[in-house]
Amino acid sequence: MNIRSEQEMLDFGRKYALKVVRPAIIELIGDVGAGKTTFVRGLAEGLGVQEPITSPSFTISKSYALPGGGRLIHYDFYRLPEPGLMVDDLMDNLNDEKNVLVIEWGESVVNLLPKDHIKIKIEYTNEGRKITL
Ligand code: ADP
Ligand code: MG
Repeated sequence: MNIRSEQEMLDFGRKYALKVVRPAIIELIGDVGAGKTTFVRGLAEGLGVQEPITSPSFTISKSYALPGGGRLIHYDFYRLPEPGLMVDDLMDNLNDEKNVLVIEWGESVVNLLPKDHIKIKIEYTNEGRKITL
């Protein structure tokens, strides 16, 4: 699927939210600036999060309450080659069936995730971004 602008990425995230079945674990794969966090902003809006989403690249994780229970937890492990103490946090959040977890730069934790978790790949193209589900 081709995404030509930031707005289209937000729209894609918003629509994707309607298809999310919880518990959901979504790994986002793509280079710096590909649009992973932009996708999460749209997804969050579609899930009914009221607060603005900001990148968790410095805080590693950010968590948002979802209407009706559960949380959207947004991880960015870019600065964390070893998940260390974050493993407990990740496990706790994986165990709540009402949660939606979205993970950027998940290489260091991928072996902790269920094998059948969702992977969304975002690549740069001449026309914008290509999404592979
Ligand atoms: P990542 O989290 O993958 O590092 P971000 O979502 O933080 O990336 O940033 C993507 C940047 O690229 C934003 O500044 C956004 O405005 C810009 N952008 C330009 N075109 C697109 C597109 N087609 N899809 C997503 N983002 C785009
Ligand atoms: Mg990001």
